[in-house]
Amino acid sequence: MDIRINIAIDGHSSCGKSTIAKAIAKKFGMRYIDTGAMYRVITLYCIENKIINNGEVDIKELILHLPKINVSFEFNVKSGKSETILNRKNVESEIRKHEVSSFVSIVSQIKEVREKLVVLQREIGKKKGVVMDGRDIGTKVFPNAELKFFITANAEIRAQRRFSEIRKTGVSLQQVFENLLERDETDSNREINPLKVAQDAIVIDNSDLTEKQQNNLIFELIKKKIESND
Ligand code: C5P
Repeated sequence: MDIRINIAIDGHSSCGKSTIAKAIAKKFGMRYIDTGAMYRVITLYCIENKIINNGEVDIKELILHLPKINVSFEFNVKSGKSETILNRKNVESEIRKHEVSSFVSIVSQIKEVREKLVVLQREIGKKKGVVMDGRDIGTKVFPNAELKFFITANAEIRAQRRFSEIRKTGVSLQQVFENLLERDETDSNREINPLKVAQDAIVIDNSDLTEKQQNNLIFELIKKKIESND
């Protein structure tokens, strides 16, 4: 089936947006784009190239480097997953590291960074059939997306879920909890394209939902939208 809608998924950090987006992509044959990964790539580049020093981002230097930073995605046939590429290097696991999470909300506040990535995201969405997750997808990237979801959950539950994914890296539950509160705060209060609920978004609090319950709920809404869009 040729899907001619775009779906925007926004919400707080670590509430399972990417899991939902991937499930939607699989079920409906859509293309999944993880915009958080794009901001993480630029943050990783800054760390590797000493543009972040002693916790400070050298904004002027970063702007000079921006044209040299190429962000793309590549489908890994073996894992069946789309992986993030920085200038031809696969950085899928590096961008998930705690150090990157600690700085990503600072880097994502920079106007020039957002401009570059929004252009790229809109280009990808032109042909439709895209499910994109992030913080400003329904409000800024695709304000006319056919369907918008805003996902949230209780902060302790989110921290616990994230911690179980990355506990092997030696990071503590408290560190994960503090990082996600900090990111929610910075992402919601930044000047440019802050995280907020789009007026026409469907809000889903998944604190007490199983993955299956949540998927069923969302899949039904998508089916209706696809049918009414035909
Ligand atoms: O989705 P993820 O948690 O990987 O996103 C990492 C960070 O990237 C967010 O905390 C936010 O600062 C930034 N981000 C953003 N806009 C998006 C997606 C992510 O500012 N559309």
